[in-house]
Amino acid sequence: MITLSITLSGQCNLSCSYCYFKKNNISFTPISLDNFFLEYQKFKSAIPDKETIRIDFFGGEPLIHWDLIKLIINTLKDDGNDFLIPTNGLLLTADKIDFINEHKIKISLSFDGLWQNNNRLTPKKEKTLSSLLKKKDLVFKINDCTIHTMISGECNNLLENHLYILDVFGISPGMELIKDIGAWSRSDVLLFNKGFSELINWYILNVDNYPIPPIILHHLRDFIRAFAKKSNPTYCGAGKSHFSYLDGRIIPCFLLRNKDVIGQIPNYTNMTGCASCEIIKFCRRGCLHENINNKGPIAELCLIYKHIYNDISRMVASLKDSSKFCDLIQRELYDA
Ligand code: SF4
Ligand code: SF4
Repeated sequence: MITLSITLSGQCNLSCSYCYFKKNNISFTPISLDNFFLEYQKFKSAIPDKETIRIDFFGGEPLIHWDLIKLIINTLKDDGNDFLIPTNGLLLTADKIDFINEHKIKISLSFDGLWQNNNRLTPKKEKTLSSLLKKKDLVFKINDCTIHTMISGECNNLLENHLYILDVFGISPGMELIKDIGAWSRSDVLLFNKGFSELINWYILNVDNYPIPPIILHHLRDFIRAFAKKSNPTYCGAGKSHFSYLDGRIIPCFLLRNKDVIGQIPNYTNMTGCASCEIIKFCRRGCLHENINNKGPIAELCLIYKHIYNDISRMVASLKDSSKFCDLIQRELYDA
C-alpha cells in the first residue's frame, strides 16, 4: 500500500502545541481539484497496477473541507483506493458519519485523552477535552475508527492515559512520539522511558485480558520483521511508501518541500550515524525531515528507541509461555 496524503489546506479549528503546520508555513488556500486530479493520474500511472493507494485527507483539519473530501471520494471511489481521514473530531456530524460509513472511510481520531487540554487548544486558547467528549456518541457510530495520541515531552503517564482513552471510547490509542529536533530534554526522556516500562509491565500482567497497546505492537512488529524477513525499513518511507500532495504537486512528504532538502534524502535513508548502533536491525530512525535538519539521528530520541526495544525484548522473554502472546506472534509472523 502507498499512502498519498492530500493537504487540503493549512486551515484548522485548533492550534495544537506541536503542530507542524504553524512552523512550516502551509498555505490556507484550499487545493484546486482540477490540478489535484491531473497530478493524481500521473502518480497513479507511475506505480504498479496492483498497488492500492491510501488517500489520506490531511490538513490542517480536513473536515473543514468536507465538500472537497466528498468530491474526491465520489470521483476516485471506483479506482481501488482506500480512504483515511485523520481528524480532531470537533466537526463530526451525523450526516458526515453516514457518508463515512457508506464509503467505508477509515477515521483516525486525533485525541490526546488526559493530555488533550494541554496539547490541543483552540486558537483562542480554549481547552477542548469537554468539546470532544460531547462527540462521544457520534464517534461510537463510526464503523472503522482508531485513535491516535501524540506524545510530547511533558507526557509520560502513558498507562494512565491508555486506560483513560480505552475506558472513554473503548479503543486502545495508537500513541506516537513527537520527533522534532529539541522536542525532548534528557529529563523528559527519563520520564518517558519510565512511563513506557510501566505500560509494558501492565501488559505483561494483563496479556490475557486486554489487547496489546498499539505503541507496543508497532515496535514488536519491527522485532518480528527483523527476524522473519531479516530486514527492516531504515527510514520512514517518505518518497517510497508515503507521498504528499502540497503546493499543487506530489512530493515525498509535506515537510520535504524544497529542492535542497529533497536532494539530501538519499544521504539520510540509511544514516551512517546508525552504523554501529546496537538496535540498528529494529529501529525505524525517526522522522527523515528532522534527521536531515539535524544532520543525523537525534540523540534524545535514540535514548528512547533503545529503551523501547530493550523493553520489548524483556516483554518477549516474560511472555514466551503465554498462549495468548504466542498466538499473537504467530499471526504477526504470518502477516510479516
Ligand atoms: S537508535 Fe538512533 S543511532 Fe540507533 S539506529 Fe535508531 S536512530 Fe540510529
Ligand atoms: S519525513 Fe517521514 S516521518 Fe517525517 S513527517 Fe514526513 S513522512 Fe512523517
